[in-house]
Formats: sequence, structure tokens, C-alpha cells
Amino acid sequence: MTQSNRDLFSRAGERMPGGVNSPVRAFKSVGGDPFFAQRAEGAYLWDVEGKRYIDYIGSWGPMIAGHAHPEVLEAVRAVMGNGLSFGVPNALEVEMAEALCRIVPSCEMVRMVNSGTEATLSAIRLARGATGRPRIVKFEGCYHGHGDSFLVKAGSGALTLGVPDSPGVPKALADLTSTLPYNDFEAATQLFSEVGGEIAALIVEPIVGNANCILPHEGYLQHLRQLCERHGAVLIFDEVMTGFRVALGGAQERYGVRPDLSTFGKIIGGGMPVGAYGGKAELMRQVAPSGPIYQAGTLSGNPVAMAAGLATLKLIQAPGFHQRLEAATHRLCDGLEAAAREAGVTFSTSRSCAMFGMYFRESPATSFAEAVGSDVAAFRRFFHAMLEEGVYVAPSAFEAGFLSSAHGEDEIAATVEAARRAFAKVAAG
Ligand code: PMP
Repeated sequence: MTQSNRDLFSRAGERMPGGVNSPVRAFKSVGGDPFFAQRAEGAYLWDVEGKRYIDYIGSWGPMIAGHAHPEVLEAVRAVMGNGLSFGVPNALEVEMAEALCRIVPSCEMVRMVNSGTEATLSAIRLARGATGRPRIVKFEGCYHGHGDSFLVKAGSGALTLGVPDSPGVPKALADLTSTLPYNDFEAATQLFSEVGGEIAALIVEPIVGNANCILPHEGYLQHLRQLCERHGAVLIFDEVMTGFRVALGGAQERYGVRPDLSTFGKIIGGGMPVGAYGGKAELMRQVAPSGPIYQAGTLSGNPVAMAAGLATLKLIQAPGFHQRLEAATHRLCDGLEAAAREAGVTFSTSRSCAMFGMYFRESPATSFAEAVGSDVAAFRRFFHAMLEEGVYVAPSAFEAGFLSSAHGEDEIAATVEAARRAFAKVAAG
């Protein structure tokens, strides 16, 4: 018996806040009801009513090798017969730690956790514990999970739903988070000159994927590196989204900047719940049990999650993997821009390898203020027109899009074709 999206959402709304387990899924900012996934394979997602979508979300990032990749599924099958969780160390955790440290040279040691949120929370605790300082610096529109210290001018769902500062975060704690405008050199210099001695850590999405897809100005990440160096603060790159996606070694490889700590998630779990933080050994050794800074997890290093993550990491290390993805992203974004031009719609894109942003404005945003100034009503119309065409982009004007290696010429051509019709609808108003 087929279930309908509508019935499921109605049932969900009775028993789950907003009918979902994570806010952006609810389509609140674009209107309408979400669909319920039945299955996914390669670049495609099917809903419970049998409708097929070309998927540009990829579970919000993990599925860089495409959904249900046979090698990832096989790796999971191979380990799950041995048991789902042990609560004692297992060999796959060691393999994962070694793989992460090999791929990301700034990571000399890592700790596995169960989500990106846990990774960022743990990283700032470590920075605070190691420096003995209280203050955290983040950027407007950056999202680092839902930890109290980060829900201050936050991006992603907080921005999409218009609640970038959440009730329930004690003022005393929020006061310890300073926010800066991303890509503003002078504002960062100024803040550090005022309160540099209080700053435990500066945390940044090196490419802001939670306020669309804002790329750093040339030298900006290096500037942040220098400020942290000069003032004794820990530089944290939150690579939960960019890690293993914008280059094999993440944004830090792409831009040649070495953070003190990095946070990861998404791809390293291959679709299973995972996060990690890692960095300089002198910092990581301060984490319990080798050091006094406490952090733990019943399911951390879960063997099934490690197997899925390791299989995914193996796939993305194939020669030319990221070059092919980058070429596909350019094909897609060039095609979208051309389709918008034909329809007379003001539109632009930003790209970084397998990640892209779509802007209903003349040029891609370089700041948070520019990102929120784009034409959200036009995005809404575009989103629904694409959905009707069977193309699923993020249900928010403030989320990056993701490609996978399963997005081939056919999928991209079909997407651009769909976009032609969608932009015509946007133009018609
Ligand atoms: N940091 C960044 C950059 C993210 O994009 C996200 C989630 N989209 C997180 C942290 C939080 O990760 P999670 O949802 O796994 O807790």
C-alpha cells in the first residue's frame, strides 16, 4: 500500500514538533509540505508516492559518492554481522583516525563523535580549556550546529526560519560569543585588538555554506590565521560541510591555511551519524583520558558508521574524483546561469568543487548582508517549479547545494532543462 506525503506529514505533525526531526526539512520558508523519502540511489531520491527527484542535497552533504553506493552498502553489510556496537575499542576506529590524519595534514590526532554539533561543541570546550579563556568568535550567518554558544546570529535553519538567536540560550553564555561580518578584514582586526586576550577560539566555516555559499576573499582566511596566531587564540575551521568536498583535504587544502583544530561530519560517516574533531597533537592530548578536558560518547566510533565512512573516504580518494566533480558543478552552474539569462531572470551562482550557491541577485554574495538581501520570493517560486519538475534543491535560499559523483551529464542536462522552464515561471511572477 502506498502512503501519501500529505497523510504522513499530518501524522508527523501530531507527534513531532513541526512534523520533522530537523527544522529546514519542514519547508517552512518556501511554503508547502515536505515529501517523505522512500529510497535513494545515485543522484536520485524517490518519495513514498513514487515520484523521482534529482537530488542536490545528498542528505545535506554526506552522499558525495551518490546515494546507496554499492561499495558503501557492502562495507556496512560486512561489519554489521559482527554486531552493531561494542562499547570497547574496535580496529575501524584506528583506521578512521589514521585516514583522517593522512588526508588532512593539520590533524595530528582526532576524536570521533556522533554529529557535527558534538564536534564543534567539543572543539570549543577544548579551546577554552587549553587557553583558559572564555570568549568565542564566530561569523554572522555561519552555522556550527545547535550548541548554545553558536546560536548567536546563526545561519542554516536558524536563519531560514528567522530565529538566528534562540530562546533558551542563557544571556550570560551568549555574551561570551562575539560575532563578526564574514569577509570583513578590518572588523576582525578591530575585535582582536579590543578583546584578543579573552578569545579562546575563532570558529569559521571557511566557505559559508549555511548562508548560501559565500567564498572567502583572497587572503581572508590567512588574515584570520594571523590574528589568532598573534593573540594566542585557537583557530577552528568548521569543515563539517566543506571537508572532503571542496577538495580532498577540505577548504584548508584549497586555500592553504592550517587551522589549529578542525571539525568534521557528514562525508566521514557516509550517511551514518558521525562527527569528528582533530588538530594539533598538543591540543588533542588535553582531551580525556590523556588530558583533563572531558568529552565522551556511548556510540562514538560506532563500527557501522566507521565502515560507511571509510568506504566513502576510499571512493573519494580515487584519482581525479574531485576534478570530475568540479567540472560537473561548473557545467551545472553555467547551465543554470544561461537558463536564467534566457528567461530574463537576475541570477548568479558561486561554486567550490562539489558545492554551489544560487543567488537571485546580480552577482554571488560576498557577505552575509548581501546573501540575505537576495530575492527570496523569486527563490521560492524557483524552488517549487523545480520540485514540480522533479529536481530537489534545498528548501531554503540560505543553503548551499551539493553534487555527487553520481550526477552525470544526463542528470545535469535534465536539471538545466527543468531550470529553463522554472526560470520562465519565475519571470512570469
Ligand atoms: N557545522 C556545519 C558547517 C554544518 O553545516 C552543520 C550541519 N549542517 C553542523 C556543523 C552541525 O552538524 P550536525 O547537523 O551533524 O549536528
